[in-house]
Order: sequence, then C-alpha cells, then structure tokens
Amino acid sequence: MDSDEFRKQAHQLVDWMADYFEDVEDYPVKPDVEPGDISKQLPESAPENSESFEDMFNDFEEIIMPGMTHWESPYFMGYFPANKSYPSVLAEMLTATLGAQCMSWLTSPAATELEERMMEWLRELIGLPENFTGVIEDTASTSTLCALLMAREQVTDFGVNEEGFTSTQRHTVYCSSETHSSIEKGVKIAGFGRQNLRKIPVNEDFAMQADELEKAIREDLENGHTPTAVVATIGTTGSTAIDPLKEIGQICSKYDVFLHVDAAYAGTVLLLPEKRWMNEGIEHADSFVFNPHKWMFTNFDCSAFYVQDEALLVRTFEIMPEYLKTPEDQRVKNYRDWGIPLGRRFRALKLWFVLRSFGLEGLQEKIRHHISLAQDLKKEIEAHKDFELLAPVPLNTICFRFHPNYISDEKKLDELNEKLLNQIQESGKLFLTHTKLNGKYTIRIVLGNTNLEKRHVDKAWNFIKDTSAELIS
Ligand SMILES: *Cc1c(COP(=O)(O)O)cnc(C)c1O
Repeated sequence: MDSDEFRKQAHQLVDWMADYFEDVEDYPVKPDVEPGDISKQLPESAPENSESFEDMFNDFEEIIMPGMTHWESPYFMGYFPANKSYPSVLAEMLTATLGAQCMSWLTSPAATELEERMMEWLRELIGLPENFTGVIEDTASTSTLCALLMAREQVTDFGVNEEGFTSTQRHTVYCSSETHSSIEKGVKIAGFGRQNLRKIPVNEDFAMQADELEKAIREDLENGHTPTAVVATIGTTGSTAIDPLKEIGQICSKYDVFLHVDAAYAGTVLLLPEKRWMNEGIEHADSFVFNPHKWMFTNFDCSAFYVQDEALLVRTFEIMPEYLKTPEDQRVKNYRDWGIPLGRRFRALKLWFVLRSFGLEGLQEKIRHHISLAQDLKKEIEAHKDFELLAPVPLNTICFRFHPNYISDEKKLDELNEKLLNQIQESGKLFLTHTKLNGKYTIRIVLGNTNLEKRHVDKAWNFIKDTSAELIS
C-alpha cells in the first residue's frame, strides 16, 4: 500500500465509521453465531502474497462484522459501558498515525507533558486533593495491581523488590465481598496469596461494613500477621454500592494500612458536585483509580491512576539500565517508572480531545441525563407488580428480577430469570448481563451509553416486560 492508496482508503473508511455510528442502533446488539463460526472462515495460515485493501475490507464486512457484539449500540446495557465519542475516536486516529511509544519524556516530550496536564485537569474536575499525582495506565486491574505492589514495598521497606518474600510472615489485604475480581487477581500476582485476602461482609446496601473491617484487622494483628492494604470501592461492579470511605479511611490511618480506592466505573460521577459525598474521606487514601474508558466517553483503554506518594510509586517500579538513561532524567517524569510495562501508548491525546470537545458542562449534562433515565426506569420497575428491585440504585445501574407473585421458590425464580436473560440475549435486540446478590440471580441494566436517549430505554423496558410475560403465558 502506498500513500495515494492510503489516502483514498482512509477517506472511505471515515465515511464507513460515520455511518456505523449513525446506524449502530439498528444492528443486532449481539451476533447470532456459535463458537468457531468465525474462525472457520479464516485461512489457516498467513498469505504468501500481498492482498488488496478491497479484499481485506470486504472480509471485514463479511466475516468480522457479523461476529461483533456492538458495545456502541444504545441497546448495549450490560456489564459497564466501554464508551467512546467522536472526539475520542479522532484522537485515536492521530495516536495510531504518530505511533509514538511514550515510555520516557525524551521519546515524546509532548506526550509526557500532555499526560501530566490531563491528570491535573482531571484531578481538579473530580475533586481529588491537590497532593494526588496521576498517570494513565491501561486498565483498573493494572492500576490496582500497582497499588498493591506499592503497599507491599512500603510495608517491607522495599524488601520484597530486593530479596523477595523471605519470611513466613503473612501480609493481609482487605476488601468487601462485593469487590471486583481484579483485587483477588492482584493479590495473587503481588505474591500475597489468596488465603491472605480477607473479604469483609457488606451491609444491606452491599457496602463494606467498616466495623467488620476493623475487627478483621485486629484479629490479624493478634495472630501476628501484617495488615498491608485495604481496597475500598466506590461503585461496585455488581450494584454500584458505595463503601463508606470516611470510616474505612480512619481505620486505615489508625492501623497504618495502605488504602486504595477503586472507583473504576463510578469515578466519572465525581464530575458532579452533588455526588462528591461519595469521595468523602479520600484524603486518607494512598491511591485512587477511575476509568475514563468506562463512562467518560474516552475509548478503551484509559485508566487514571492517582497516588499521594509519588516517590513510593516510582521507587516501587524504577529501573535504570544504561540504554534508557537520558540527559533530562533529573528534570522530567519518565512514565515508564510509574507502572508495569516499559512501552506506553499515547493515551492523553484522546482525553484532551474529549475534555475540550464536551467541556465540563457537556460531560455533566450527559452523566446527569443517564442517572435521571435510570432513576425513572427504577421507579417503573419498582411499581410493576411482577418485578422487584434487588439493590439500591445510587447511580445508573439497576439490579432487578422478574418475580410473579405466585412464585416464591428461590430456585425457581433463579431459573426463571436466567431463562429470561438468555432469551433477551438471544434476541439481539437488547444486551443485559447478570450478577448474584444475596445468592439471588439478578439482572443488571446499565444506562450509560454515550448516545442513549429515552426512546431506547422505553423500548428496552417494553421488551423486558413482553419477554417475561411470554415466559409464563
Ligand atoms: C470494571 C471494573 C474494574 C476492572 O476494570 P479494567 O479496567 O477492565 O481492569 C475494576 N473495578 C471495578 C469496580 C470495575 O467496575
């Protein structure tokens, strides 16, 4: 492919992209395929000779598109969204074109300095205290792992980095029973061991019980263990429960335990002054993560990771082989030392474009709209005699189940709701996912897609009602 060909194809591609964004709500949100359907259409080996772009694009449309789940569709209301927006996609095109690998200041000074400024903008926008400094990681899982590694090095005085774990001393980590699976994964990778992860019980709102946390820490201390880190969640993945950060923070300060706050999804809501109470007590936290790539209209991947003690972070990860030394090392940030990989994508550009294109007001307007759509739907579900809510709805995630009043057997209700969800999924008209709350099969509906409107929500709710009525007719 040469420059002329690139220019021609790229122009057409942009038209295709614009059409996709306009038409995506008419696509089946989930493809009608079985495992292996796509791979059997792909050649077993790479081609020997050059192929034309027309052929490639044709196969993209014929083979790949029919096998895609459309996260961009407003009828995708499962998991949490992985949002994007026009300015974000445009920035990604530039990022791919520049192809910069942003491991140190020298490898692209503008990328480092823009990332620095974007993390400052974002810190101010969500009301984090001034002494937090940020870096963009790929995912919240990585950010949380970084936090756990910082906690490990802090408590062992950088001993594990040097010698590995040398004693049989147990280092314990605490989170709630509703915490995201990435905490357990991080605990395993960081070498603490899963047996040393304490899952603290939650209250009726699925938030961590702070007194149970303190009890667990005291018990571990009495048994000679070393309480090392607590992970509190603002917006759990199951039901967006808000852990009581202030009380948890005070306990962490009292026992000198590292506190990491996982606000991967709900962090975006801190852009709203009326929701800042969720972050009350944040000054006790050592680190904080939230993903603009979930609800803040910025393409995956973009995870904002903030720490209070920059020196601890850098000392945990710093490496200095001869071939990476640069003359400016003393005067600049080299983000390779702020996380796990050496190589880094230029992720700050899309954040810059999103923040400028929407403006704070534009972001706030969208988020408030999503929350109000969810609060309205919540009322409808609550008022319907055959449905019940299974958790509070502080934001835009609704946990509910179908519950006709003549069925009281829990197992039957689980089966009925599993069947309902499967039928919804298979229809291709709506994409929802599930969780378990108090052991009950729970259907989740998340209203956070970039271009979501009331008509989409109405259509989704009608479809849920119709499908469930058919199930029992
Ligand atoms: C989504 C989510 C994560 C994981 O995010 P990744 O960026 O995919 O690693 C962690 N914690 C919470 C609360 C989440 O909602």
